[in-house]
Order: sequence, then structure tokens, then C-alpha cells
Amino acid sequence: MLLSINNSLRNLSWKSSRSLHYGCKVLVVGGGTGGCAVAAKLSKVLGKDEVHILDPSERHYYQPLFTLIGGGVYSLKDSYKLQKDVLPDNAKWIKDRAVEFNPKQNHVLTAMGHKIEYDYMLLALGLETNYEKIPGLLEGLKNWNGICSNYSEKYVEKTFQVLKNFEYGNAIFTYPNSPVKCPGAPQKILYLVDDYLRKNGIRHKAKLIYNTSLPVIFGVKKYADALWKVVNGRDIEVNLRTNLVEVKPDRNEAIFENLDKPGEMQTLTYSMLHVTPPMSTPSALRNNKELSNQAGFADVDPGTLRHTTFSNVFAIGDCSSSPNSKTAAAAAAQSAVVFHNLKAVMDGKEVKRIYDGYASCPLVTGYSKCILAEFNYNLEPLETFPISQDRELTSMYLMKKYLMPSLYWNLMVCGYWNGPATMRKLLHLSMK
Ligand SMILES: Cc1cc2nc3c(=O)[nH]c(=O)nc-3n(C[C@H](O)[C@H](O)[C@H](O)COP(=O)(O)OP(=O)(O)OC[C@H]3O[C@@H](n4cnc5c(N)ncnc54)[C@H](O)[C@@H]3O)c2cc1C
Repeated sequence: MLLSINNSLRNLSWKSSRSLHYGCKVLVVGGGTGGCAVAAKLSKVLGKDEVHILDPSERHYYQPLFTLIGGGVYSLKDSYKLQKDVLPDNAKWIKDRAVEFNPKQNHVLTAMGHKIEYDYMLLALGLETNYEKIPGLLEGLKNWNGICSNYSEKYVEKTFQVLKNFEYGNAIFTYPNSPVKCPGAPQKILYLVDDYLRKNGIRHKAKLIYNTSLPVIFGVKKYADALWKVVNGRDIEVNLRTNLVEVKPDRNEAIFENLDKPGEMQTLTYSMLHVTPPMSTPSALRNNKELSNQAGFADVDPGTLRHTTFSNVFAIGDCSSSPNSKTAAAAAAQSAVVFHNLKAVMDGKEVKRIYDGYASCPLVTGYSKCILAEFNYNLEPLETFPISQDRELTSMYLMKKYLMPSLYWNLMVCGYWNGPATMRKLLHLSMK
């Protein structure tokens, strides 16, 4: 009885000239993949309304599906659910955006002028796309044919429209000069387009070009070797250290800079241009120098995922400074670490769980093929299945298409999926 009165007082909110004042034990800022998974775990053990989730989005997207939407396999409506149906019942959702963090005073201010006080905070704001940073790009995406991008719910369905209308010419795919979520996705769509054009008998009329700002095709050597075989076998041109800097949509021109020779520009015409935009953490986090590092990411210990300055703050997912590949698969593995370490801090115990940098990337290489890359902080393969996963396999494609979405909605956002570590141990043990 006393406990329930205390809880009500803690969560008391009152109105003063339209702004509300909230208080909670744990504030989760961002209810996307990572935030939702941890909020689900915490709210189960902490009880009703002890966890508050601050997130302005009406819809919760399963973004890994965007690649297959771009390829025409799914439609946008298959990729989302309403946020109210996804966030845990036991947690309180504040449908608003964080605009100012005050970690010394343990509170956050929101766009609507509310103040939320917390005992503990989890930063889970993800990465935002900065299409406006490339002159001509937004205008092209909105008003011109030929330009598309899988990286936004606004434009992802345009990709397949552009592909269906393709007749001949250059199809160009870009990777920006910034950190991105799912570093494999900029080239997955390239392989789907290649496969689509072959199936429709017009591949010989197309020149496929992958222009990437990175110095490598993929960060992990084992999979990079496999991908070089794919691009060479399919007559795809790859230009490393080549960054899209401008689009002239009225002339179907894309301008690229050679990052090894700054100022050296090349203009290419396109019939199809798939752009992966520059990305950054949301400004409220990026501009807060107490919470973020120089690059704007929440400054956490890469093992414990606990903030380096504020011991009651943790981060998960794309907005965290942990130097892993930014994927939902990484957030799944991090969710158990964050949950256990946060709980340990609350209970006055030692923080023991360590994240090994696990990330996975299902590199779709066609409409029935996929290389399942899995690796750790050291960029060493950390494969779940007791086979060498650098091969294009139909089984991995089927897993990406059918199993992973179901696993996401039924297990991960409900707090029951921590990545495949246990399965990996069992499978490898059974093979010994
Ligand atoms: C095209 C594409 C393909 C992908 N493919 C894969 C794949 O195959 N496999 C894979 O594992 N991953 C893939 N990913 C990456 C994966 O979707 C992300 O890594 C994952 O969703 C990150 O989770 P997160 O919680 O960090 O961020 P998100 O899930 O993006 O959630 C961030 C949340 O923060 C909220 N937010 C933002 N700003 C604020 C603010 N100021 N205040 C409050 N809330 C805020 C947002 O509304 C959002 O709900 C892909 C992504 C894309 C775009």
C-alpha cells in the first residue's frame, strides 16, 4: 500500500501553464529498437510506470525491412506498428522529443516544455538522416524521377518505383562520409538491383557503380573478400573513397569528391541514383558536451555501456560511442548488458556484464541469396552457425525475409531477445 502511494507520488505530474513535470526511476530517451527492448526488460522487474519512455514517433519501424521494401519484396506497411502497441504496457510513454539534457541535475526538457526528472537514464536516440547536407538531394528525392533512398520511410518505396522504370544507363549507389546505421545496407540494394535487372533481361543495358567513402568494401576481411568476388563476378564497378557531394536532379547528374585528393571532383550522369545520406546523432544529444563525445555520440565505456562521466546514465544502439557496427543485432546483444548493469547500479552492486561488440549484417546479395556477416569489436567473425558464413546462402536469405522480422516483433521489442550468443554456443558445442 505504502509502496503504491510512493510510486504515485514519484510519477506525479501537474500542470502549470501547459507544461508538465514528470518523475521516474528510469527515463528511456528514444523508444526505438534498443530503447524499447531495455524498457520492456526493466518495466517487468520495476513495476508499473517506474520506467518512462520519451519518444515523439507515432510509428515504430522495423528498419531492417527497408532493404527488402526497396527491392519490392515488402511494402512500407509491413515494416511498422503503432508505437502505442509496441512500447511495454508497464512503462509510461511521453510522446514528445528531448531538446535539452541536464545530467548534473538529472532532468530532461522536452519540445513541449515538459520537465522529466529521473534517477537513471538510458540514451537510445538512434541516428538521424541528414539528406539536407547534400545540395540538390532533397529536391531530387521529392520532385524528380531517378533518385531514391532506402534510408527513410518517406522515400523507401520510391526505390522500387525507380527500379521498375529503369531502362538503361548508370545505376549509382552511394555510401556517405559519416557513420551510418547498417553499413551493409548501401550495397544490399545494389545487389538486389543487379538481380532484378538480370531477371528482367536488361542487365546488359545498365552500368552498376558503387561509390563509397570508405577505404574498404566491408570492414571485416572475411566478408570483404566474399563481396569482392560478388562484385567482380557481376560486373559491378566499385570506387572507394568516393563521396557524393551534390546532386543536380534537373540534369540527372551526381557530383563526387575523391576523398584522397580533396577538391578533385567527378560528375556522373545517372538513370538511377540510390543515396545513403550522411547521418548524425540527434542535435539534443550531439550538442550536449557533457553527454556526448567529439563526434556527438553518447560517451560510454565500450564494455559496460555506462556513461564515462555520469554513473546513472547508460546508452544503447546507434547513438552510443561504442565502436561497433550500428545494427539492430548489436542493440539486441547490448540490451542484456545494459539491463544487467543498470540493475546492478540500482541494487548497489558491481557492474559486471561486458559487451563484446557483437554485430551482424545480413548482406542480401540477390532475391534468394544472403551472406550473414557476424563479428565483434576486433572485426573477427563471430558466427552463429557451425558453417563458414562467407557464402551466399538461400537459408540466410529466408531467415532475413521471414524469421528476423518475427523475432523482432515477438521477442526483441518485448525484451526476450539478447542476440544469438547462447544459440551460437549450443550449435558449436553440438558440432564438436
Ligand atoms: C535501410 C536500413 C537497413 C537496415 N538493415 C539492418 C539489418 O539488416 N540488420 C540490422 O541488425 N540492422 C539494420 N538496420 C539498422 C537498425 O535499424 C538500427 O541499427 C537500429 O534500429 C538502431 O536502434 P536504436 O534504438 O539505436 O535507434 P532507432 O531504432 O532508430 O530508435 C531511435 C528512437 O529515438 C527516437 N528519438 C530520436 N530523437 C529523439 C529525441 N530528441 N527525443 C526522444 N526520442 C528521440 C526516434 O523517434 C526513434 O524512435 C538497418 C537500418 C536501415 C535504415
